[in-house]
Amino acid sequence: MSLFSWHKSALPTFSRGGVHPEEHKGLTENLPIETFIPTTVSIPVSQSLGAPAEPLVAKAAMVKRGDVIATVPGGGLSLHAPISGIVKSVQTGPHPTLVHDTTITILAKSAEGDPEFAEQPGWQTLAIPQMLDRIKEAGVVGLGGAAFPTYRKLMLPKDAKVDTLVINGSECEPYLTCDYRVMLEESERVVLGSWVIAKIIGVKNCVIGIESNKQPAAEQMRKTIAALGMEAMDPAVKMSVVVTETKYPQGSEKQLVQSLTGRLVPKGGLPLHVGVVVQNVATAVACLDAVRNRKPVIERVLTVSGAGIKNPKNLRVPIGTSVEDIILHCGGYNGDVVKILFGGPMMGRTIADLDVSVTKGTSGLLFLTEAETNLNSYQPCISCGECLDACPMGLEPNRVSQYIEVNRPLETEQFGVKECFECGCCSYSCPSHRPLVQFMQVAKAAYRRQERKAK
Ligand code: SF4
Ligand code: SF4
Repeated sequence: MSLFSWHKSALPTFSRGGVHPEEHKGLTENLPIETFIPTTVSIPVSQSLGAPAEPLVAKAAMVKRGDVIATVPGGGLSLHAPISGIVKSVQTGPHPTLVHDTTITILAKSAEGDPEFAEQPGWQTLAIPQMLDRIKEAGVVGLGGAAFPTYRKLMLPKDAKVDTLVINGSECEPYLTCDYRVMLEESERVVLGSWVIAKIIGVKNCVIGIESNKQPAAEQMRKTIAALGMEAMDPAVKMSVVVTETKYPQGSEKQLVQSLTGRLVPKGGLPLHVGVVVQNVATAVACLDAVRNRKPVIERVLTVSGAGIKNPKNLRVPIGTSVEDIILHCGGYNGDVVKILFGGPMMGRTIADLDVSVTKGTSGLLFLTEAETNLNSYQPCISCGECLDACPMGLEPNRVSQYIEVNRPLETEQFGVKECFECGCCSYSCPSHRPLVQFMQVAKAAYRRQERKAK
């Protein structure tokens, strides 16, 4: 296959690169979402891209579910108490990506008088700025993993010409099935949440993109759009469901935009630049909860899976639930676990501390055994070109890796390093098991350091 070959598929898909890793979704795809509420939660204050929030509560304070407990100074996003209880401590704790962060720990107390977040009358006719305010107040971020503040993504620049909302139901990472279960079990909330976003950004076209390995979800979404009478409710917004080829990374924004609209996001650009806004299905639900129920993001659904956990599950847990509590709730380890990942196996992060807790961006928790993990040491590049074929951005990770090995990270821009979104297709396809994503990360970090120095 040549570098620039266009893949032939009966279903819509992106044109360049991509891989077909083993799916492993059978472990959890038929397991309905269960709710698990631990007795303690620990909430790191850095939960979204940008500045961290500052705690507004101190040790021994009583908090109710939904109370604001931290906020970003200067009008940024707030964090809310995921459970009612007493603040046990505000101190440094582990963080899944930052290693350490200020963390608010709450011990659960009686839930009597907990807010129910009932439907607010007149929510459908709110003005756009009010809808946006509610989304901001609720602390909604991209729940697909990016954790970008949603209100900022929905406040379009004045000159933006956006005509399409893409709702991302691709969930292309192996093992993860939480979005699939949300689409099956909470399809009404996904559809209404998508409508809320379409109203805010003022588009007539809303396309829900779902991979072909999740056909039941696509059928459920279509049925729900018809059952809710969306066309009659608001003829100005046309909602449709499009099934795409199952190919990783179908769920990445640029690839999904091309699959669903045929538009190519330019180098260094955003979907916005080709008239599209992309939101994940769980984020659509969070937007509806915020606008309709004034419910903040205090919980999320995630997949707990891998051969290393006794009872894999799709769980709804309060933000701040620890990995250790989830392991106990899922029956403990099953054999030797050699890797614990936050997120999927392609883009997830390894964690080493069981006290790390679920954040708003945590879509999966994987317990992998040796059989599921590549622990081989890596070998020299054999110039096979597999990584070039696999890269959906047309980059040259092989060349970047060679430059990193001779300590020349600041000479790698020519190979496209700044366009890399760390999807992992290159590492996955390399027969020499070269950690190509890590090489890309090293090069990107060197450029970031250089930019900081130049300021
Ligand atoms: S991780 Fe980066 S270099 Fe590797 S395939 Fe993905 S975009 Fe390309
Ligand atoms: S896939 Fe691995 S061995 Fe092949 S060209 Fe890329 S880096 Fe080299």
